[in-house]
Order: sequence, then structure tokens, then C-alpha cells
Amino acid sequence: MTGRVLHVSPHADDEAVGCPALYRALSDSGLTVVNLLTSLGHPQDHARRRAEAQRASDLAGTELVVVEESVAASDLAGSESLVARAVADQLARGDVAAVLAPSPHDNHPRHEAVGRAVLGALEGTDVTLLLYAVWGSLPLPTAVLPCDDAALDGAEDLLRCYAGEVDRNGYVALIRHRACAARVLAAEQVFGFGAAQELPGVGAEVFTEVRHRGGRWLAGVSRVIDPGALVAEPSDRDVTAWLTAPSARDLVSWHG
Ligand SMILES: [Zn+2]
Repeated sequence: MTGRVLHVSPHADDEAVGCPALYRALSDSGLTVVNLLTSLGHPQDHARRRAEAQRASDLAGTELVVVEESVAASDLAGSESLVARAVADQLARGDVAAVLAPSPHDNHPRHEAVGRAVLGALEGTDVTLLLYAVWGSLPLPTAVLPCDDAALDGAEDLLRCYAGEVDRNGYVALIRHRACAARVLAAEQVFGFGAAQELPGVGAEVFTEVRHRGGRWLAGVSRVIDPGALVAEPSDRDVTAWLTAPSARDLVSWHG
């Protein structure tokens, strides 16, 4: 595969919390990986969070692009438009082969806004989109990356670059334990309940892979991800209704 892979990050740390093993594996496989960081949080934290994000990019060998925030952090609609434009600007360069981003149902207002912005920017492009979950869950996972201990160690090293965030909550423990659970669950969630397949490794990262074709969002085929051959033809499973549905939070005006 050639071209760049774009990760769209709601906050400074989401590539390290949401999909660290795939993010690092793609970079390690020789691809140019760009982390499009769309918010640095509160103004008093900007310098720290920018420095942490740069440290993480340096470790992973990726390129950091920070979107200048011209709207208030509380203006989600404005932020969504800003992110959509920033993603469109990256796509306009013409060499984006795949995009990684949180799901529009990720149960965190900013993650969901970024997910919606990415979907909007990718409509009509036929670019592969791999959606992941941090705060919510993925009800329709299609692709899984098995992880060995070395991959999980690398994921933890990436996350530790965000010292300020790691100090705030136990995200490092989350990475390994979530991956261990995902490896067991994904064997059936991705390949069918009752499937006899046990995934290799000690953990896994799961994604819902989608592509926009003919005005519809088509889910990827059920598969194990090969970081060296990230892009695959989609299935004919139409997931437009799910992707464009209001999130649970929006459905019942859930705040907090
Ligand atoms: Zn986040």
C-alpha cells in the first residue's frame, strides 16, 4: 500500500488510547502516518499537551499536525465544522489511503463530533475509514488486529508520553486489559457467534471498517488486519443507518 494514513484525534492522547497498536504498526511498516490533532484542551494546558503529543509522534515516527482552534472548546458544532475542513484539507492532497478516527457513537461529545466530521469529510471519497471506540463500544466490529506482548508494550510506551493524562486516570492499565478482553470478544463479534477461531497473540484492537460508495456507507469484510496491506475491498453490508443515526447521548440529551 502507498500513501499516507491519517489519524484524527479529538484530544492529545487519543491515538495512544484508541488504537495505539495499529497506529504504531502502520508507522513501523513504513507508511507515513499523520496525527491530525484537533484540540489541545484548556488554554492553560496547550503547551504541555502539544509537547506530549510531539513526544508521542517522535516515538512512533509519525507526523504531528495541530489544528489551530478558532472556536471555543464548548462550541461542538463549530468544532465539528473546523475538523471537517481540516480533514478535507488533508484529503485534498490526494494521497490519503486510509483514515483512523473514533466512532460517531463513542459516547463522548467531542469524540462523537470528530467521528461525524470525519464521516462528512469522507463522503464520496471511497477512502477506507477505520473507526475505533474509547468511551463507547463498537456494536458492529469488522476488523481486528491481534497484538503480542511487544505490541502492547509499545502501545503503553506511546501512552506514557502523555504523562499529564496518564497521571489523571489509569489509562495505561486500560490498554492491556481492554486488548485482552477484545481478543476474546472479537473472535466471535467479527467472525460470527459460535466461530471456532481463537485469535493469536495476547490482545487485540478492533475496528469498524467502512467506505462510502454509491451514496452508502459499506462495512468492511470480516478480517484480520495486515498493517502492510491495510486497505481491502468492502462487503455489501450497508451500515449507513447506524453511522448517521443520532448517538445514544444525543437521542436522550445526555449531558456530562
Ligand atoms: Zn479523547
